[in-house]
Amino acid sequence: MQETHVIPHFILGETRGAVTERFAPVFDPSTGQPTARVPLADASQVAEAVAAAQSAFPAWAATPPHVRARALFRFRDLVERESDRLAQLISREHGKVVSDAKGELIRGLEVVEFACGIPQMLKGEFSAGVGRNIDAVSFRQPLGVVAGITPFNFPAMVPMWMFPVAIACGNCFVLKPSERDPSLAVELGLLLKEAGLPDGVFNVIHGDKEAVDALLDDPRIEAVSFVGSTPIAEYVHRRGSENGKRVQALGGAKNHMIIMPDADLDQAVDALMGAAFGSAGERCMAISVAVPVGEETANALVAKLADKARALRVGPGIDDSNDMGPLVTAQHRDKVRSYIDLGVSEGAELVVDGRGFSVPNHAEGFFLGATLFDRVTPEMRIYREEIFGPVLSVVRADDFEQALELVDSHEFGNGTAIFTRDGRTAEEFLQRVQAGMVGVNVPIPVPMAFHSFGGWKRSLFGDHHMHGPEGVRFYTRLKTGTIRWPIGAGTGAEFAMPTQK
Ligand code: NAD
Repeated sequence: MQETHVIPHFILGETRGAVTERFAPVFDPSTGQPTARVPLADASQVAEAVAAAQSAFPAWAATPPHVRARALFRFRDLVERESDRLAQLISREHGKVVSDAKGELIRGLEVVEFACGIPQMLKGEFSAGVGRNIDAVSFRQPLGVVAGITPFNFPAMVPMWMFPVAIACGNCFVLKPSERDPSLAVELGLLLKEAGLPDGVFNVIHGDKEAVDALLDDPRIEAVSFVGSTPIAEYVHRRGSENGKRVQALGGAKNHMIIMPDADLDQAVDALMGAAFGSAGERCMAISVAVPVGEETANALVAKLADKARALRVGPGIDDSNDMGPLVTAQHRDKVRSYIDLGVSEGAELVVDGRGFSVPNHAEGFFLGATLFDRVTPEMRIYREEIFGPVLSVVRADDFEQALELVDSHEFGNGTAIFTRDGRTAEEFLQRVQAGMVGVNVPIPVPMAFHSFGGWKRSLFGDHHMHGPEGVRFYTRLKTGTIRWPIGAGTGAEFAMPTQK
């Protein structure tokens, strides 16, 4: 491997070098060349990051919420100021197109804006006179040190689903970002410091399973937020819960979009193109299954999709005229390609083949063309499993009930969408479908920051969705006080359960 720089950890307000011998390469996916090395922390360095967070907690928890929010206000402006540079950095490590990277920064900043309203959200409840001279008060307090473990596909937005709310609530945070695009996390740490966040409130530790296990086993960590693939989400939820932690673990997806015969087909096709192939399909809310209802709808849909998929502009993400960049690593590109081979051998009809695609002057880049399968059936592995690449499967349905049954019987239940002009059908879908996030003529129904994000079934382990009101509940615990200031003489000891007589 050629000589490359080492990405630092960020602990107690400072960048820190590696103390381990273990490193992983970070690539520019559009050239296929390594650009940096990321250290893979061992348990002792993870413990150092946790200790930093623990040391900062008492003062941070005691800081009034509106003062905590001020640091986030400043952070918001700094990220906006740096957004061009940050978006390019995301594109260089992840591969996505720069305009898409900017979009993820904006969606992350919306959570920061939501978290700036924390004084209002922590106001609590008060009941005067619940007994003679007795008042009751309920309020929420921070948990302590909390950890976030995040995937490669949104190196800015997914961490920003977590830490703004966590630290606004008064917790201190340890982030373990994906080792495939780890630089953004450190950049965010430096901007938080510039915004005036006290040292130790936000820390970044790089690593792989060893670091994750150290976080899950550390008794000083009260709660863990995880986003990634379903097998790891299930593992993190189990191990963290066994260790007595509060855990929210968001997993994989296979999001279906139903296209009813009355839908505006051109609108549906445009929506599908963006939702299936934006970010090379590496989105947990990507649409990977299109379900046209009726043969006529299906034939027209597939014809239009095929033309557009063949015309998709695929190239380096840093060039904003492209629609789609490369996949994140060669290994992931090969895995997605092997799913295309599998689909062919399973008998699906390969309408557009993205294999063998290459970009001039970028022969080593991790590119794959847009791929479209028709006549995919529910037994096929390309239907059952998450591919996480630019591969769209069309599963034809006879009617609405069959389409709905398809969505409901899939093991994942992250997002789903219906395209129709009929309000009754849309409402029926919204009420009955077994998924956590539902779009009506909206292909990627990612909730706004002041609502909460999360799937159902094997797309989420734990009880709380992320950000919005659910995020505040996750990162705080409820305390209720019953308060009396006695007036006059006491009435003596009472041994029965206290009640109001
Ligand atoms: P991943 O599961 O491979 O990695 C996620 C995190 O877990 C990383 O920080 C990684 O270092 C760590 N990790 C990996 N292997 C581990 C192991 N054996 N033990 C402990 N920790 C481990 O996921 P990814 O490939 O980075 O991201 C893509 C996946 O994330 C897709 O499945 C996608 O659907 C999912 N995702 C889900 C959501 C959602 O909101 N539900 C959002 C984004 C991504």
